This record gives sequence, structure tokens and C-alpha cells, in this order.
Amino acid sequence: MPRTAVSTAAAVRSGQVRAADILEEHLARIGSREAEIHAFNLVTDDAARTRAADIDRRVAAGEDPGPLAGVSIALKDNLCTRGVPTTCSSRILEGWRPPYDATVVERLAAAGAVFVGKTNLDEFAMGSSTENSAFGPTRNPLDTSRVPGGSSGGSAAAVAADFATIAIGSDTGGSIRQPAALCGVVGVKPTYGAVSRYGLIAFASSLDQIGPFTHTVEDAALLMEVIGGHDVRDSTSIPQPAMALRPELGKGVEGLRVGRITDLPAGADPGVMERLEAAFATLEARGAQIVDVQVPAFTYGLTAYYLVAPAEASSNLARYDGVRFGMRVDAADTNAMYSATRSAGFGDEVKRRIMIGTYALSAGYFDAYYGKALKIRRLIANDFAAAYAKADVLLTPTSPTVAFEFGSKGDNPLAMYLCDTYTIPTNLVGHPAMSVPFGTAEFGLPVGVQILAPALGEPVMFRTAAALEEAAK
Ligand code: GLN
Repeated sequence: MPRTAVSTAAAVRSGQVRAADILEEHLARIGSREAEIHAFNLVTDDAARTRAADIDRRVAAGEDPGPLAGVSIALKDNLCTRGVPTTCSSRILEGWRPPYDATVVERLAAAGAVFVGKTNLDEFAMGSSTENSAFGPTRNPLDTSRVPGGSSGGSAAAVAADFATIAIGSDTGGSIRQPAALCGVVGVKPTYGAVSRYGLIAFASSLDQIGPFTHTVEDAALLMEVIGGHDVRDSTSIPQPAMALRPELGKGVEGLRVGRITDLPAGADPGVMERLEAAFATLEARGAQIVDVQVPAFTYGLTAYYLVAPAEASSNLARYDGVRFGMRVDAADTNAMYSATRSAGFGDEVKRRIMIGTYALSAGYFDAYYGKALKIRRLIANDFAAAYAKADVLLTPTSPTVAFEFGSKGDNPLAMYLCDTYTIPTNLVGHPAMSVPFGTAEFGLPVGVQILAPALGEPVMFRTAAALEEAAK
């Protein structure tokens, strides 16, 4: 078992271990395997060494550097880091250095974390395999012939390969939970508004949330406590402090009502479904009550998402026009410059989303596409509300399959979109969800079980996760 954030911080704060030594362990591992894995767009080893030395100096001076003292962390490369290149794995942002830090980055720094680098992603977080990166794909550390999932594949791989103890990703339709499942680590998509989005480069603003990748449920709870809570700079941030989640972990699941969605869309591999059944059996054996619920509109989540997310993306990505950020391709006049810059700067999947989104929002089609998608969003919210009248949490698979091979869905965007069948509905309604590793299936590869909870239901979600984790040991 690799080091955890909790144990690392305790050892560093008490002076038993030096942050500098912890960092060198991670940098050595990066040195030996990063060429093969490609988890990072940038390794910030110099800055990390400076920070680790500073933390050791503070401990020696009797100060407390904070709850993440000396913990190595990797940041998805769509989080703004002051003065440090931030690319979204897109040519269009190559060379851009943000003038400010994301709120999450500020909070992690204040807690004593050591940033080891910026991780690879599907361009602008659009994808489920990290094959859409302009800088080449990331490989799954558990089987390098397979994808790590996406879009936060670099963050998931960095934790799975122990290049960093923890990582941060973003989740618009599954981009934390799905790669967490495929790489055998814990991944959390918080309640919309529970974590500030200030400094997260926007994909689909009504869906995007930042969250952690960790080896343990306890580390994820700690990280949520550090990065969560109100931020005046994000108007969608919930005006309340971060939830205390670590006290929930030992509470067990006795009496908890765990919902089984009887009309869940089909399509998951048999091995994945077996692990889901094993999770229900485990929780029942520990005193939970398994109840049947229906969420009929769940099935339409994917369709609604692939109108809402591209619609918002088409608007958010309009700002990359060669004027203010990153690359510019000069041309005869301004309109030609916009066009040349955007043609050269964006990859195929990003262009596809911009075109779908622009079409769905256009005057003649708005009601038929975007308007309809919003109605589905409402139906899904209603169905979940009815389900949560009967159950405290719901369990589903995180991903329909284990990690798949490179190129196996490359020329079929729809096959790729289906990877997020089970993760997307919660983004559409703003609820929290997390993936917990729960054994292995096809090819001996890890399976993640997804725990869903109502808005601000993180406490009960983490309680359930801790029980599954303990049983999986
Ligand atoms: N795979 C989904 C997409 O391509 C979700 C991505 C995400 O959560 N950022 O849009």
C-alpha cells in the first residue's frame, strides 16, 4: 500500500519524516516510469523541491504547515496555477501562463501540499480515455496497453502509479469517477457548489465540479475538507463551510437504506455487474437494508448531457480566439485570424462539441434540442427525488467496463460517450457521487462501484464508501 495523505502529513508534522524525502520518493518513481505512462504535461520538480524544503524548515521552527504537510499532489492541467503553464491539453492554450491560482490550488497550498506537476487530460476535458490530448495519450499504470479513462486520466494514473499521493481532477460527466474506477483508486464528484470552481477552466459551467483522487476513502474525506467550503469568487459556491467528513467514516451502515435502481440502463460487462452485486451483499451483511427504486429518466441522461454540455462548451470556448490567450495564427484580417487560430488550435473532438453546441442553441433549433434537454434534466431530478424518499444512497457501476485498449473506441465517438452512462445523470442534477475500488473483473482489472447521494449527502456517501473499502481489503 502506498503512503496515504493522512499518514504522510502526520509523519511530516511530527518531524518523523522530511517532506523533502517524501518528494524525492515520488520524483524517483516519476523518473523511472513517466516516460512510459505520460501522466504529466509538466513536472514542476524545482518548485516542488523549494516548497518541500520550506515545509521542513517550518516544522523545524516549531510551526504547523497544515493538514496536508508534505503531501505530494498532482493537479489536472485545467486548473489555473499562477505563472505555471496551464494548457487543458490543447494547442490553443500552449504557452499560456495564468496570472492567478485557482481557489482549490490556494487552499491546498495553505494546507501544506507539495505540487509535483500538471496532469494530462482529454483536450478541454472532453473524453473518457485521455486519448484526445493534443500532447499524446496517458497509459494505465496497471496495464499500459490500456487507457486510464478520462478525462482526468493523468490525475488517476499519477495516483495509481504513486507519482503523487493524491491528485485533483474535474468532473463534468464522469471525468473523476470513471478514470478512478479504471485505475483502481478512489474518486469523488462533490455536490455542485461544494467546491469552488474559481480558476477551473470552464467546460460546461452548470456541470463542472472539482474533486479528489486518492488511494483511500479517508484521504478523500480529508481532501474534501481542505478544498470544500464557500468561496466569494465563485457565485455558484454554496455559502456554508466544508462538510466534516472524517467523523462519518467509522459509523458503519447499520440501518442505512441502499437503493438498487431496477431500471438502470443495461450494457455493463458481466464481471462489473457481479462486483456491484457483491457490494450490495456486503452492505446488507453489515446491516444495511437494500431497497428497489426506479429512476426512469436515468436512461435519457446521456442524450440530455450531449446537448447541454456542448451548448455550454460552445459558449465557454468562444473566448479562445487568438486575441487574449495562447496561440494565434496570423491572417489577412481579424475574422480570418479567428478562424485560422481556432482551426489550428482545437482538436477534432473539441470542434465536434462546438459545432453540436452551436447547432443546439441556434434560433431554429433551440426548443427542439437545448430546450428538450433541459426538460429531461428536470425529469431526472424529479425521479431522483422520488428515489431518495426511499433510499439514503444508490449504488451503480461507475463504468460499464474495465479499462479498455487504446484505439478501441477511437473512431466511434458514440461508443466513447457510452462510457459515461452511469456517471452523467448526477452531474445533470448537481448531486454528489464517488467511485470506490471494489475488486476486479475482466482481465483481472479493477472495478469501481459508484455511490450516489442527494445534494449535500456527502456524509452518508462517505460512510457507505468507508464500509465498502473496509470489506474490499
Ligand atoms: N466523458 C464526458 C465527456 O466527454 C465527461 C467528461 C468530463 O466529465 N469532463 O464530456
